[in-house]
Amino acid sequence: MEQVKVKCFGMDEEGKGLIKVRGRLVHVSNLLEGETAVVEVIQRKDFIKAKVIKIVEKSKDRVSSKCPYFIQCGGCQLQHMSYESQAEFKQQKIEKLMKPYGKVNKILTMQEPYYYRNKIHSTLAQGKNGKVISGIYEENTHNVIPIESCLIQDKRADEIVASVKEIMKSFKLRPYDEDSGQGFLRHVLIKTGFASNEIMVVLIVSSQVFPGKNNFIKLLLQKHPEITTIVMNINNRKTSVVLGEVEKVLYGKGYIEDTLCDCVFQISPKSFYQVNPIQTEILYEKAINMAKLTGKETVLDAYCGIGTISLIASRKAKSVIGVELNKDAVRDAVKNAKRNKISNVMFYNDDAGDFMVNLSKEKQNIDTVFMDPPRSGSDEKFLSSIVKLKPRQIIYISCNAVTQERDLNYLTKNGYKVEKIQPVDMFPHTSHVETVCLLERK
Ligand code: SAH
Repeated sequence: MEQVKVKCFGMDEEGKGLIKVRGRLVHVSNLLEGETAVVEVIQRKDFIKAKVIKIVEKSKDRVSSKCPYFIQCGGCQLQHMSYESQAEFKQQKIEKLMKPYGKVNKILTMQEPYYYRNKIHSTLAQGKNGKVISGIYEENTHNVIPIESCLIQDKRADEIVASVKEIMKSFKLRPYDEDSGQGFLRHVLIKTGFASNEIMVVLIVSSQVFPGKNNFIKLLLQKHPEITTIVMNINNRKTSVVLGEVEKVLYGKGYIEDTLCDCVFQISPKSFYQVNPIQTEILYEKAINMAKLTGKETVLDAYCGIGTISLIASRKAKSVIGVELNKDAVRDAVKNAKRNKISNVMFYNDDAGDFMVNLSKEKQNIDTVFMDPPRSGSDEKFLSSIVKLKPRQIIYISCNAVTQERDLNYLTKNGYKVEKIQPVDMFPHTSHVETVCLLERK
């Protein structure tokens, strides 16, 4: 394999360095703009890949990554950048994308950008010499890269996963093998409540029959009395999708609770909940303040999850309608309204686009729309119905500025103007950014 010396002349959106090799543009991990490096070139018929061997001239933004798994893991893309330069990188990324719509406010960063994730997912596999390993899949393969500790996840999770592996060994419970379809335990999913300190452990298994179940649970709880609930999720399909349909509560109430902006929320295994609770409060406060609600508004919260934005905004609105596709999340949302004694909110289990089409047919009056779609963004059905419903303002929250920009383009061509753009660093050390935008009717 050939090694060449290159100069990095820019960065892509995922935080990879851009270089030219044999006249072609190549994206390289662990390389910063302005740096000179020796890279190994791997050329196949139709693509060139490069791997950093040695940094010859370092950027002032480079720090040595605190994580021993940084290069292999791929979960974080920016561990080699100081936190200040990560923020600058994200700011520039959003400014570049959002240029046509106006000024971008300064990104809101974290004071302690470590151990923030409250949702931890670990895949189990058989390692060499019979040991059970846990970690994440290597890109495009079924190989599990062993990872025993993570700098961005709730610290308590690493210890619980280590204990699960230990107990598996003593019970001779085998990890599931994706290729052969043999074995029992597939993944461990852990959700932690930042404010409540509650911990849910979801064991994703391949069959209903859990050999030695009671003793397994007993031992896990003995080692970790901090666990408040344990759920078994059965996934017997040959798939890389983590969670199966069927669930059984093995211990505790089957969900955790957490508090955000003075509201208590119940969170089930399959419901979406923002992964960085500290930044979520900042994000929600910004978003709700942008709406300047007076108590007279009818609000729509689309893609509402367990009803977080709906319930927090309901205190300042006349009424709120929440719509969400995931039925478990809607069930949580309904309970959350009761739990917080909130009665001016209605939740609907539907596709947001279909729901909007119906609202616009009924000519329902909506003053304010909060929308927080998944990474793929919203769709034509939803956006064209918004345009018909003519809410005075739209607050669009997104974790993918590329699809958000696409949707802003549609809305600004159809009667709306972007008034505010606020990035929030919800995912330090990764290249992802959350952005909240305020749109008003022209
Ligand atoms: N606003 C919530 C959830 C945001 S995540 C919060 O801040 O916690 C996006 C949500 O959109 C997820 O709960 C997902 O289940 C839901 N979703 C995905 N596709 C959808 C669709 N077509 N219609 C309605 N909801 C959808």
